Amino acid sequence: MNSWKETIQYERNRIIFEEELDSFLPDDILDFHVHVFPEDVIPAGESFTCAGHPIVSYDLDELRSDLTQIYPQRRSLAVCFGFPKVEYDLQRNNDYLADQCDRRQFFPLRLFDPQCDAMDSLLNDLESGRFLGIKPYPDYVRKPDVNQVEIHEMLPARAMEIVNQCGSIVMLHIPRKARLADPTNQRQIVALCRKYPDAKIILAHIGRAYYLKNIIGFLDDLKNLPNLYYDLAMVNNWEVMEHLFQTVSPEKIVYGTDIPLALGPGKSVEINDQYTYVTPVPWDLSISDDHGKIQFTSFLYEEIRAVKKTVARLRLPDRFVQDLFYANGMRLLNNA
Ligand SMILES: [Zn+2]
Repeated sequence: MNSWKETIQYERNRIIFEEELDSFLPDDILDFHVHVFPEDVIPAGESFTCAGHPIVSYDLDELRSDLTQIYPQRRSLAVCFGFPKVEYDLQRNNDYLADQCDRRQFFPLRLFDPQCDAMDSLLNDLESGRFLGIKPYPDYVRKPDVNQVEIHEMLPARAMEIVNQCGSIVMLHIPRKARLADPTNQRQIVALCRKYPDAKIILAHIGRAYYLKNIIGFLDDLKNLPNLYYDLAMVNNWEVMEHLFQTVSPEKIVYGTDIPLALGPGKSVEINDQYTYVTPVPWDLSISDDHGKIQFTSFLYEEIRAVKKTVARLRLPDRFVQDLFYANGMRLLNNA
């Protein structure tokens, strides 16, 4: 089978795994950031592009199989949520995850739409344990310019009161062009964490800080918030990780990838205080390697390489690695 996914089905990735990752990765791996959607969530005739590779579904069977092809001989678990696009069928996506996640290997979060979601259904879903938390998204606010969205619009007070009451998780993809460096975001993250102390807020992609200047100084007001956490999904930049690992308490950091996107070939790179993705095929978020100069591996393996490099530079113990890849995330799930 010839697939766009950069897994050990290809010899080049098997070699990376054996030579670089096998001795580093712990036995148990919990990926806290995975998107899953069954057939018929996307409107007929459309597709979702994984770094330039269109897909029409990504279900739990496919995830289960892919996990064995990226982390051989590991026990791998995942926190799963749907694809937060306004045009997709949110209800079908949520129902699939609630029904199919076994809560032993796969743990469901609920897509949350502040305009269409009923509060009694949200309360019911979180209180009953049907979901362990929510996944809001800037696009659900439906502003003409998504960069003008504010966090409180993604998470209205009545929804947050329910999340807080249930002690649930919020997987937060922050809005706005300056991301972690945006002063409105900074203020609203602090306010959110303080006002809802029992909610567990996770800044996806380390607050989308994919290059060093976007993070330096911008954890100072956040690092002591006891209910704020950080996932590493799609971060390939070891300097960003190094700053995070040195600044926040270790138990606040969870491993996450953004599968299925992260299975695609490519890397996120920093250039002149900005970032872009570089991919072998055209993608609207990337610069593509038209000349075929580079043999790529997955974003996911590039992320683990960056974690490994940071751990070595900071001389962090094995325990740090085990907790990052598993225990920190499990603690969050067990308390949600
Ligand atoms: Zn994501």
